[in-house]
Amino acid sequence: IKWSVDKGWHDATVLARGPFQLDPACAVLHYAQEIFEGMKAYRTADGAITLFRPEENARRFNESAERMAMPVIPEELFLAAIEELVRIDADWIPAGEGGSLYIRPFMFASEVFLGVKPASEYIFCVIASPVGAYFKGGSKAITLWVSEHYSRAAAGGTGAAKCGGNYAGSLVAQAEAIKNGCDQVVFLDAAEHRWVEELGGMNIFFVMDDGSLITPPLGTILSGITRNSIMELARAAGHDVREEPYSFDQWQADARSGKLREAFACGTAAVVAGIGEVRHAGGSFAIGNSGDGPVTTALRDQLVGIQRGNVADDRKWLHGVA
Ligand code: PMP
Repeated sequence: IKWSVDKGWHDATVLARGPFQLDPACAVLHYAQEIFEGMKAYRTADGAITLFRPEENARRFNESAERMAMPVIPEELFLAAIEELVRIDADWIPAGEGGSLYIRPFMFASEVFLGVKPASEYIFCVIASPVGAYFKGGSKAITLWVSEHYSRAAAGGTGAAKCGGNYAGSLVAQAEAIKNGCDQVVFLDAAEHRWVEELGGMNIFFVMDDGSLITPPLGTILSGITRNSIMELARAAGHDVREEPYSFDQWQADARSGKLREAFACGTAAVVAGIGEVRHAGGSFAIGNSGDGPVTTALRDQLVGIQRGNVADDRKWLHGVA
């Protein structure tokens, strides 16, 4: 679907997947005016196709658009484009444990010019690809690398937006994590390099010995849809859930004293992944029993159960695609 200042959204088309042709002076190639979303279509036990809270992806997409000086897209149009693609690709949605269709809506500045200003033409596009379970052979606890030199976002920056540039800036830190034998990087805040923010592609929760949960507050982090869902499920299960700053020093001290029982990461791709070990330039520490703790497991089972249609969807999170 195209957008221009004079026509608004127009020319929606469905095409077989193939390369784009872009002029070398296309704005996105120079100033990175680009945003995206990541979501999954599941086939539930009864064969129906569902999306998980896609209205939240639409809302976040438009918040990203506003931050990047791009046009917003009506929720109905965003959802209609996704539903149409899901219907066309329905045969590609794997049934059974873990499989799903990963959906990637994105928008970029397509106008041809070299000045630094918001473009007046954009393209919104949706692609999809079947994916298997994130962890082959069941879930496993992940190991995190604390980035010593890099931050993902600063106050007033684009941290809350899902724009390509945020990920470009995080690649070197993620590569460092892999080099140190870890699964994902965890970023601390830019101002003090003290407060835990989020992972390269997931939000983070801490489970304390009194049963309460702590997760870093919104602002410079991505407002994860899984994070929001987990907060709601945890509160309904009687946990006190606090969105408050948690420092790396506190994390280390609480893990050592046993005050921190579990920690887990969450996001669309892996849903919920227990964190077993944390490595940093000065050493490493383990969390709990280094595997998935009972709170992590219960929340994951409940969320995955809802997504797969095996647990009652009391909150009407599932969006059927007929
Ligand atoms: N933080 C970052 C940086 C991410 O890329 C993602 C994945 N979209 C998340 C958090 C988790 O967000 P969600 O639960 O909406 O997938």
